[in-house]
Amino acid sequence: MAINIPRGTADVLPGEVELWQYIEKQARETCKLFNYREIRTPIFEHTELFQRGVGETTDIVEKEMYTFIDKGDRSITLRPEGTAAVVRSYVENKMYGDPVQPTKLFYIGPMFRYERPQAGRMRQFTQFGVEAIGSNDPAIDAEVIALAMRFYTNLGLKELHLEINSVGCQVCRPIHREHLIQHLAEHKDELCDDCKSRLDRNPLRILDCKNEKCKSLTKDAPNITEHLCENCAPQFEAVKGYLDQVQIPYTVNPRMVRGLDYYTQTAFEIMAEGFGSITTVCGGGRYNGLVEQIGGNDMPGIGFALSIERALLTLKSQGIELPVDTTLDCYLIALGEEAEKKTTVLLDQLRAHGIAADKDYLSRKMKAQLKAADRYGARFVLIVGEDELKNNVVIVKNMQDGSQTEVAVSELISYILAQ
Ligand code: ATP
Ligand code: MG
Repeated sequence: MAINIPRGTADVLPGEVELWQYIEKQARETCKLFNYREIRTPIFEHTELFQRGVGETTDIVEKEMYTFIDKGDRSITLRPEGTAAVVRSYVENKMYGDPVQPTKLFYIGPMFRYERPQAGRMRQFTQFGVEAIGSNDPAIDAEVIALAMRFYTNLGLKELHLEINSVGCQVCRPIHREHLIQHLAEHKDELCDDCKSRLDRNPLRILDCKNEKCKSLTKDAPNITEHLCENCAPQFEAVKGYLDQVQIPYTVNPRMVRGLDYYTQTAFEIMAEGFGSITTVCGGGRYNGLVEQIGGNDMPGIGFALSIERALLTLKSQGIELPVDTTLDCYLIALGEEAEKKTTVLLDQLRAHGIAADKDYLSRKMKAQLKAADRYGARFVLIVGEDELKNNVVIVKNMQDGSQTEVAVSELISYILAQ
């Protein structure tokens, strides 16, 4: 019996993979422009890293992790997100000691969450994310946001909508928390079961609940922005000011939360008109308590993550075609056994000069080979028959205009390269 792909995962086949490569290239180029350097961390980490680095009370840790005991009796987890691992690596490799600061990093790679699969929600998905660790300058908050926006606008996405908020810090959040608990306590019985248990443990996350009843109960809940302290209020104003300066429009959404103790100040999401509804295509924020939480010194940090899957779906739904190159430079057709041998050498020479080339391996007739060349998007078909072999020439057929020219074998490479 045939074996199927696991639920919530996908094969990326040729035809589609070129889009992935294009998007990943865009991500790398945008990071180069902003001077962020790539980091690659393992696909799995000690489970404890995510318990501490993502937070015990989050959906990710409570419900979504792929955790297993390995043969050495260690609890291992397939990474559900990138930030915790990057921060672990930052601390472990003492990157805070590098002469260039802040530490500006990016990653692209698969993440794993046991979710209910649907469009844009996979169990294995690929995130592109950046982290800037070591600076509390609000200008870097704006830079991180600008990087995400630049990435998406360069891909051609339209109707991007940026929402920002400040979630305060250890000073102002407890005050807001008290107000929030007070407000919600009166309606405790009406909250969903998840939120009932969140009320004491992590009331901020109730603001994020998708349940309609919870949404309506929190409609008039006190906003964190009303309680920002003397550090956080000007920080938030400064971030907004920098965004204004570079003309990135935004709306303040005081309900947007990152419900963890070590998430601080700036939180943001980018939404786009996508697959049928408004979709979050990027989420990020500041995490000034995280480095310490993972065992490092007290270091501020900020970052974002987005998934290639959602980016692709949104591009498709907006009808945006990426300019991917699926052409082949040359397809060689040999007629006869001697010519067949010759094409092997020609093929090797073309490739050695950086010309993408292929030939038939199924002993097909001339007509079928021409069809194959067409399917590969070949720009030129090179035909070698007995006569050509004798005269040391090749017939070069230009597939765009149909014209044919005879070119000496010795001139072939420079002829193709000049086209
Ligand atoms: P959501 O509320 O949609 O579950 P999230 O808060 O879990 O999102 P983050 O952990 O902030 O998302 O991840 C950042 C981005 O990664 C999201 O904005 C989204 O674009 C993407 N993403 C998150 N989960 C998935 C998934 N299961 N499949 C595909 N993309 C995802
Ligand atoms: Mg989620």
